[in-house]
Amino acid sequence: MTKQTPRENGPFADLASAGTEPALLTPGPLTTSMRTKESMLRDWGSWDDDFKAISKEIRIRLVDMCDGGEDYDCALMQGSGSFSVEAMLSSFIPKNGSKTLLLMNGAYGQRSKKTMDYLDRDYVELDKGDYLPPMPNEVADILDSDPAISHVVLVHCETSSGILNPLKEISDVVVAKGRKLLVDSMSAFGAVPLSVKDIPFEAMVSSANKCIEGVPGFGFIVAKKSALEAAKGNSHSLALDVHDQWAHMNKTGQWRFTPPTHTVVAFLEALYQHEEEGNVEGRHGRYLNNRQVLVKGMRELGFETLLEDRWLSPIITTFFCPAHKNFDFATFYAEIKKEGYIIYPGKLTVVDSFRVGNIGQLFEEDMNGVLAAMKKACVSMGVDDCSPPAEALEQRKLQA
Ligand SMILES: *Cc1c(COP(=O)(O)O)cnc(C)c1O
Repeated sequence: MTKQTPRENGPFADLASAGTEPALLTPGPLTTSMRTKESMLRDWGSWDDDFKAISKEIRIRLVDMCDGGEDYDCALMQGSGSFSVEAMLSSFIPKNGSKTLLLMNGAYGQRSKKTMDYLDRDYVELDKGDYLPPMPNEVADILDSDPAISHVVLVHCETSSGILNPLKEISDVVVAKGRKLLVDSMSAFGAVPLSVKDIPFEAMVSSANKCIEGVPGFGFIVAKKSALEAAKGNSHSLALDVHDQWAHMNKTGQWRFTPPTHTVVAFLEALYQHEEEGNVEGRHGRYLNNRQVLVKGMRELGFETLLEDRWLSPIITTFFCPAHKNFDFATFYAEIKKEGYIIYPGKLTVVDSFRVGNIGQLFEEDMNGVLAAMKKACVSMGVDDCSPPAEALEQRKLQA
């Protein structure tokens, strides 16, 4: 590997030449506001009262965002979102005497399963494949047939296909059957309404760089106070022990180990902007409009979505690659990037696909911009028909 001169040849070259950066149509890290970026231009002592007040304010706001009131509290956890998922699973699922039902329909459900294997926790799974939703009646049947199941884990928005899983309906079943619900709402929290008044989860996890529009570096767990108390001694890991982190923050106002100070400060700035936009409702409105403009425009170009409309999330959408012999994803990606947009490869195992996210500081004009860039890319590749192969549409029929 040869060393590059960053600003001239390296990853910053586009900044130097164009004075701009591409819009990230990805599910995080995502495009953040200038205000959020600028908030990182100072250094903080992690033990100082000013920084402690910022951590405290963040925790209060996150509990408020899901109507947690006095019964819920929040712990912050260093690392990417997966660190917080692992922290949640290990801290809230006891080593002995527990059995977990993992509801899986994509890469993030698979990751939770892998994590459970590392943690050596007992589980059963309902694996719906790439993109079919786990249904409430299926969950009810499994819970009825296996009284030993104590916990249920569900991914809210499965970012790998973009499906918005039926969280409320599944929560109703889990509550009715007296089990505990753990939610990975990583890519939905802050933009899809989630209130403990109708979804009384045991714990929920999300991270800084998704719908709150912060930068990467930490995640957070909102959980019942009773569950946080009871989590003592469960975790296999010192660094990922949610109970210990939470108890320490309550006692000292500090993180146990070095916090990502700049990320934390940027996150509070992002939370202020989230409130100014109209909280969850306001953010949901913008994202949903982005998604609608995008999907309508893509369909006009001849592309098809993987999912039936009823399962589309306001977060990210999977499109089938065109069947046309001239279509090549790498070229398509590069052509679109030249126009200032970064899209996301697909994660399906059965048919070729790609994904377009619409979260972050993106607006209707960005959606129209990426649509124009895709149209141009197809023309330059000589693709005059963007419809998918017939077997792709057969796949979609399975969701009916
Ligand atoms: C982003 C995401 C995660 C965490 O991924 P990291 O790369 O570790 O931040 C977990 N679950 C879902 C559903 C996600 O979208």
